[in-house]
Amino acid sequence: MRSWFEQFVAEKRSPAGSPGRDLVALLERVQSACKAIATLAGQGSLGRTARHELGINVQGEEQTLLDVLANNAIIGCCEESGLLCGMVSEEMEEPYRIPAWCRRGPYLLVFDPLDGSSNIDVDMSVGTIFSILRAPDGITEPALEDFLQPGTSQVAAGYALYGPATMMVMTAGAGVQGFTLDRESGTFVLTHKDLRIPEAAREFAINASNQRFWEPPVKQYIGECLEGAAGPRGTDFNMRWVASLVAEVHRILVRGGVFLYPRDSKDPSKPGRLRLIYEANPMAMIVEQAGGLASTGRHRILEIVPQGLHQRVPVMLGARLEVERLLRYHAAFDRGEDMMFEAPLFHNRSLFRSN
Ligand code: MN
Ligand code: MN
Repeated sequence: MRSWFEQFVAEKRSPAGSPGRDLVALLERVQSACKAIATLAGQGSLGRTARHELGINVQGEEQTLLDVLANNAIIGCCEESGLLCGMVSEEMEEPYRIPAWCRRGPYLLVFDPLDGSSNIDVDMSVGTIFSILRAPDGITEPALEDFLQPGTSQVAAGYALYGPATMMVMTAGAGVQGFTLDRESGTFVLTHKDLRIPEAAREFAINASNQRFWEPPVKQYIGECLEGAAGPRGTDFNMRWVASLVAEVHRILVRGGVFLYPRDSKDPSKPGRLRLIYEANPMAMIVEQAGGLASTGRHRILEIVPQGLHQRVPVMLGARLEVERLLRYHAAFDRGEDMMFEAPLFHNRSLFRSN
């Protein structure tokens, strides 16, 4: 059987030809790391990775031993490849310096080693997200600024999903391919060819507990979805929330829908929850390559020029028509137009209105 990536390259219809051998070799390294992380995550409470909190990471979030081991797996599999000159991870405040004895290469790797790690102790899906950028010409020791490239500069992006099956989904700029890990042979097999997101959606994912902090256009959009068949959308919607970006995006790629983690007023110092360069950008590239859209509500995510390694952004991605609708609502609100579902949402119809 052909290897997962030989298949990927053979199936890919890239106008520029197949990706360079270096890129293929680097993706193979990332794939090896994801296989190792799948094994670690799969040990559950039997492994020494069982929820074991280490403290607070650079994001101000709880760090588990599995976060650290996943981070080390990617560094260990990739630093000696000779293909990288730097790495950035959610788990490290500063760019990772490739050791002096390792050969340097043309690429930068940015990643979220374990996405949704709070799902681990309830045995739900977690994942890994990665993005590959080209280092500026002639650079062998990249500075922080060298990583601050807009998402349109990504050479490749992907994620691994550690669910009942382990999958890798990736794009090198010519469509999106999904591979399933065959645990018997240890190889990834192309199972989801040319994933496409349906234009329309009847499923949305949002953390509804933040409703009171949303901006009016988001309240408007979700309010209309909740009105269902009786409301302006004229159809019933389902809601989903897995609390792992990888699992949310994967569901949208396979089944359609829209995902929102909008800007909110809960913590004004954070203009969103998700990180631009290793969460929003790789997912935005995948979603756009699959025919969907990825926006902040006001701007295309891939065109944002990052200001910092761990910068956060609002994210709305998935079905094209739904994201376009969200863009219209934000534009109308910014022009000063009234929103029907102004805060506080539904007070006009709540039986238990307290004020
Ligand atoms: Mn994450
Ligand atoms: Mn993470």
